[in-house]
Amino acid sequence: MIRLEKVSYSYPDGTPALENINLVIKKGEFIGVIGKNGSGKSTLALQLSGLLKPQAGRVMIRGMDTRDPSNLPGIRKLAGIVFQNPETQFVGRTVEEDLAFGPENLCLPPVEIRKCVEMALAETGLEKYRHRSPKALSGGQGQCVALAGILAMNPECLIVDEVTSMLDPESGIAVLEIIKKLHRKGKTIVYITHNLEELHDADRVIVMEKGKIRLEGEPESIFSDISLQTFGLSLPSLIELAENLKMHGIIIPWEKTSSP
Ligand code: ADP
Repeated sequence: MIRLEKVSYSYPDGTPALENINLVIKKGEFIGVIGKNGSGKSTLALQLSGLLKPQAGRVMIRGMDTRDPSNLPGIRKLAGIVFQNPETQFVGRTVEEDLAFGPENLCLPPVEIRKCVEMALAETGLEKYRHRSPKALSGGQGQCVALAGILAMNPECLIVDEVTSMLDPESGIAVLEIIKKLHRKGKTIVYITHNLEELHDADRVIVMEKGKIRLEGEPESIFSDISLQTFGLSLPSLIELAENLKMHGIIIPWEKTSSP
């Protein structure tokens, strides 16, 4: 669905952010992207959604090259991005108005716009807040509005950039659960976080450092990779505990044993 080939990007002030990234994201995959601050995760998200263009290499979204401006309307329908600060994405006076904005921009007929808004409200459990101002909602509800605003355009791929980092744990779990449900319904998800604990159910996890992909694999193998610590990340707490116990000879090493 999305393919990055030798993608490099530096910001206009010369700060390098991505270096020679190769990545293929398959339809229906849930990919977790992790790395400490400044490792290039958000820049990668912007590249995956076509909002930034690579200076070297190319990003292809369903065969459409993001460097070609004539592809941008098509890319917008396929890949939607949700950011950390929902307030920056609100455009409507009410939640309903806010959700209608995307489908309106896609020039859908009013009946279709209504359907998209209702679908997005239902998927995110926001029906009862439809007439409220998005700015008057809690952080978690606001993040759901931002997510619903993208969902209303029904993209195949959702790129989700640190959406739980400003939320209390309970709201964070609720938002993550909505995203997991959308994945089960077939959406492709790129989930960016600095919290490994959120990635247990990912199909694949990539670890970034200094604009490069340093590790890539299933969560199980990434979580038990001690080299995570060299990339400024701590192991998930349960795994860290198990490692410590193992070091002290308290439990049998947890490596899989072959069944008898
Ligand atoms: P992360 O999302 O992992 O925190 P970013 O993609 O935001 O990483 O940043 C990668 C690098 O690019 C960092 O060195 C960061 O300081 C720099 N950077 C990010 N945004 C900008 C910008 N708008 N202008 C200049 N440098 C930037």
